[in-house]
Parts: sequence; structure tokens; C-alpha cells
Amino acid sequence: MSGGTVAVVGGSIAGCAAALAAARGGADRITVFERAQAGLRDRGVGIGLHNDRFAELRDAGYLTSEMPWAPLNRRVWSVRDGDARHGRPVGEQPFPFRAYNWGSLWSELRHRVPDGVDYRSGSVVTGVEPDADGVTLRLGDGHRERFDLVIGADGYRSVIREAMYPDTAASYAGYIGWRGTSPEVADLPSDGLDAHNIVFPGGHCMAYRIPDGVGGHRLNWILYTTPAREDGLHPDLRTPTSLPPGRLTARLTTWLRELVADTFPPYWAGKLLGTPAETTFIQPIYDLEVPRYTAGRMALIGDAASVARPHLGAGSVKALQDATALQSAWESAGDWGQLLEAYDTARGPIGSAMVALARRMGDAQVENTPDWSAMGQPEFDGWWQAQNNGSDRRSGFGGHSLKRD
Ligand SMILES: Cc1cc2nc3c(=O)[nH]c(=O)nc-3n(C[C@H](O)[C@H](O)[C@H](O)COP(=O)(O)OP(=O)(O)OC[C@H]3O[C@@H](n4cnc5c(N)ncnc54)[C@H](O)[C@@H]3O)c2cc1C
Repeated sequence: MSGGTVAVVGGSIAGCAAALAAARGGADRITVFERAQAGLRDRGVGIGLHNDRFAELRDAGYLTSEMPWAPLNRRVWSVRDGDARHGRPVGEQPFPFRAYNWGSLWSELRHRVPDGVDYRSGSVVTGVEPDADGVTLRLGDGHRERFDLVIGADGYRSVIREAMYPDTAASYAGYIGWRGTSPEVADLPSDGLDAHNIVFPGGHCMAYRIPDGVGGHRLNWILYTTPAREDGLHPDLRTPTSLPPGRLTARLTTWLRELVADTFPPYWAGKLLGTPAETTFIQPIYDLEVPRYTAGRMALIGDAASVARPHLGAGSVKALQDATALQSAWESAGDWGQLLEAYDTARGPIGSAMVALARRMGDAQVENTPDWSAMGQPEFDGWWQAQNNGSDRRSGFGGHSLKRD
């Protein structure tokens, strides 16, 4: 099937990949609407990609080996142990990931979007009017444009998803991620080749080295925990719009800093507390599942379609895999209906499986943490396997294989 007009709403990781998929599928005219005014280069921080998932996406022509990355081999989980500088390891596991800077990943994908695609920065979609064989988009400047197919790549607060499923929204998981990047990487244990999870009652913090985008490295960290249920400390985040990432209240920051000072091994407390305030922000954690990835002439991709808690380390992988499935559906379908059916069949179940696994991980790693101080490697291995339903290899951690393992 080829030809037709396609709109992609959102020009981030999923949006660029969707535009690429549509171009390869043979769409006549492709327009990307991206709300942000300028390039998205500075957004976000570190992204980990499992080595095997990276290789599949490189072979599918969505990623290249040339993007700057930092290798990670192992993940060490450590708990505070008196004055021990790095704490006490409670367990370690293989961690075959490549660490990227979000900006270079986005730049690579943006660069791959063919020149013929009309990528419009600073263009917001404000309304969606589906009809029998197309969709009209209302734009922020008052214009309306109609397309044969609209792909929602507009993240967890998607306007396209809202038009498809008005009763489905991201639901707050009950805890937050506090994120930051620090330039202090000179003395990282094992030369920065390990990822570290610092554990404490009620959460953990993952830290790993990423490229800084200009030839050096930074330390990227994310601390997951449930803030105390007191006024101002645990704002109402049930509506995803109530606290956009970046609005960190002074009281919440103070609370988080005290938590780190009280529960982290000295070395890691120093790293977090020394992180410049301007590079720290919070991200409330959400779950999102949709009944189907498609409805009428609309399709969803990336975070607009499903959001699994980040413990899985696979959100970008899923977005890119969604795009490869869209491309395959395009190449094998005879009409729009077949295309959309094939895409939903390929990706809907994977999205749901990822959300379920990430919920189990969030439960074990944040909501109902074990007694870390009593844990050693055998207990750690059992605890990890329980989250993965007793299986390590086929769990989907880091993303499912495109070959369906
Ligand atoms: C704390 C945290 C850690 C993570 N760590 C990892 C990791 O290690 N590995 C990994 O693979 N993934 C990770 N992820 C997930 C990953 O960042 C995303 O899943 C992935 O980037 C896909 O995003 P997206 O393109 O679907 O959505 P987004 O990046 O949210 O992009 C949506 C785009 O749509 C635009 N937009 C929205 N509404 C409109 C509109 N109405 N009109 C026009 N434009 C609009 C926005 O401006 C935005 O650019 C993590 C996520 C979180 C929260």
C-alpha cells in the first residue's frame, strides 16, 4: 500500500520514528506537528538501551552505531552500611546496556527524517475531528488540515489518544522520579562501567554515566520514592497536568535532600547533593494502557500508546519498535484498514505486557521494598526473579525482542 496524506502529532523520539516509518511505507505527504519551538536537543537526560534491542533497531535502520554512547556491563545494588564509603553491595546482575544522552538519540532520529517530510516546530494541535475516511486537525494558529491518517506521537498526555479514547488517561503510580545530571564523573567506581542502584526503605536511586554530548561524560541519576503524605510534599498528581516536570517545590526538594543525607552511603550522598539545582527536576510516574493502538484513521505510538514505569528501561526501545511494526504493516497491507489492524495486532499485547512487568517492578523496588539490610546475593536473585515471574531471560526487562522471545 502506498500514497496518502499522513500527520504525525509530536516530533520527539516516537514522532521522528513514525515519520520515518511512514516515509518508508510510501506515504505521499507527511507532516509532523511539534509543539516545541526550537530543537528538542536539551530535553531529558540519560536513556539506557539494551545491547540486543539496540542491535535489532540498528539492523532495522532506525539507529546507528555512530551515536555517542557509554557502555554499561553490570548493575550493582548497594545499601548504606555505617560509614562505608560506597555502602554494602546487596546484589549485582549483568546489565548489557548502552547509555545515551537523550539529545543525541533525538538528533539522530531527527536527522533520519527524510527532507520531504514537513516537520513544523512550534505547531500545536488543539483539536481532532475524525470522519469516516480521514481526520481533520485543528491547529493553534486557527488553521485546519485534513489527513488520511493521523499518528499520535504526542506523549502521555496525547490529544490524539483523548480523541480515540476519552475515558482513558495515564494514572499516577503514587510516587515520583527525582532526576538530575552531575558533571562529577572523575572518580566513579569501576571507571563508570557499572550502573548503580542505591537502595533505601521506600525506594532506590539508579545512577550511571552518559555521554554529555560534547565529548565528555555526566552522571545521570533517577531517585524513585513516595513523598510523605503531608501538604506540599505530595501534591495531587492524579491529573497528569497538575505538576509538569520541572516544578519542584522548595519543601519537596528539602525533603528529598534530607532523605539522601539520612539514607545514602556517603559517596553517593555527595554525588546527589552536589548536583547543580538547575539540572534537577521531578517526573511523576504514570501507568497507561489503551484498549487498542488504533481507532478509525488514527494510530498511537510511543508514550501516547502506553507508558510503562521507567524501571523497565525500555520506553524509547518500545517507541522505536512501534515504528518498525508500523513500517512492516505499511509494507504488507493492501489498504488503511489492514495496515491499522496489523499494527495493533503486532504492538498492543507488547505494550500491555510491558506495563504489567513495570508495575511489578515498581511494587518491589519502590512501593513495598524488602529489608535491604538483610539481603545478600541469593536473596537478591530470588527477589529479582519474583518480579520477572520466575524467568530472567524472557522477562522483557530492557524491552521485548523484535523476534518475540
Ligand atoms: C524517569 C524516566 C526515565 C526513563 N528512562 C528510560 C530509559 O532508560 N530507556 C528508555 O528506553 N526509555 C526511558 N524512558 C522513556 C522514554 O523517555 C520515552 O518512553 C520515549 O522517549 C518515547 O517518548 P515519546 O516520543 O513517545 O514521547 P515524548 O518524548 O513525551 O514526546 C511527545 C512530543 O509531543 C509533543 N506534543 C505533545 N502534545 C502536542 C500537541 N498537542 N501538538 C503538537 N505537539 C505535541 C511534545 O512537545 C513532545 O515533543 C524514561 C522515562 C522516564 C519518565
